[in-house]
Order: sequence, then structure tokens, then C-alpha cells
Amino acid sequence: MTPDLETIKRVVLDAGVFEIGEVSMADLVFEPEIRRICEGNMCRSYGGCWACPPAVGTLAECEERCRQYDRFLLFNCRYPLKSSFDIKGMMTAMREFKTLTEKAADALRPLGLDYMLLSNEGCGKCAKCTWPDAPCRFPDRLYHSIEGYGFNVTRLSKLAGLHYNNGPGTVTYFGALLYKE
Ligand code: SF4
Repeated sequence: MTPDLETIKRVVLDAGVFEIGEVSMADLVFEPEIRRICEGNMCRSYGGCWACPPAVGTLAECEERCRQYDRFLLFNCRYPLKSSFDIKGMMTAMREFKTLTEKAADALRPLGLDYMLLSNEGCGKCAKCTWPDAPCRFPDRLYHSIEGYGFNVTRLSKLAGLHYNNGPGTVTYFGALLYKE
């Protein structure tokens, strides 16, 4: 039997997440404009790993993948920065959020849920990604980019009641848990 929503939220929060909230599946929008931002490759992950477009498939394929699930929980974590130009701090925070996503996955596994986790941009687990020449080395630890699915995280955070920005001197990253009831 699928655990109730509050139990699932508690498990993810206990893994170290800052906030978590639900977005109705009916409110999910897969925005081509967000995918176009990915294609601009400001983050240098587009076309560079299995976690980002084009490897994650078209927006229609991303939507079809998500629609197999019944519920969508957005979660986040905030990290301190020395200044708004602290690129090293942002990179460290980005990696820490990925580790946090793995911790959430480990915590969810014993619940027997049928779920999918999305994480923040890119992957970065291996020194050199196998994409596109060979399959991902760690498919069980591969979390697709939430932005790569066309999700507008600012919009989703409002719907889920989460803080998008946690103030000066911080950076906040987002992921999502989709699961079947
Ligand atoms: S786990 Fe390794 S092979 Fe798989 S997407 Fe990440 S960097 Fe690439």
C-alpha cells in the first residue's frame, strides 16, 4: 500500500530537504520557452549528459513520462553563498543538491513506492559523461533535470507554497518527486 502524503513528505524532509509541497498534476505545464533556455546552454549541460536535453527526449516524451504518475511534489534546499558572485559556492551547492536527491532516493526506496525523481541541472557524477556514445554508467542514480522537462520552477514554487528565493547570500535548488498512488 502506498504511504500517505504526509509520510512521504516527512521521509523526504528527513533526508535533508528544506521545503516540500504538492503541485496538482493538472497544473503541470511543460513549457517550450524553458526548453529553449536549456538550448541556450548557459549552464553548459545541454547536450552534455544523460540528465539533460536532448538526451531526456522531447517535451512531449517528458510529459508522457510524468503523466504516468499520480502526484507531484516539489522540494528545495537552500545553501549559503559568500556573495552573489560566489560561482564556486554555487557549484558546490549544485553538487550538494544532487547528493541530497540521492539521499531522498535512498530514503524512499524502503517505502516500495513507484516513483521518479527530478533534480537540478545536469549530472556531474562522472568525470566524463558517456553521453552520447554509451549508456549512462549509473542509470539507477540518474535524475533528469527539472528544467529540462520544461518546468518553470518559479511558477511551480508558488503553486507548491515553497520559497523560490531564500534571500541574499543564498542559492536555492529544486527537484521533484513524482509517484503512483
Ligand atoms: S551518471 Fe555519469 S554517465 Fe550517467 S549521466 Fe551522470 S555523468 Fe553521465
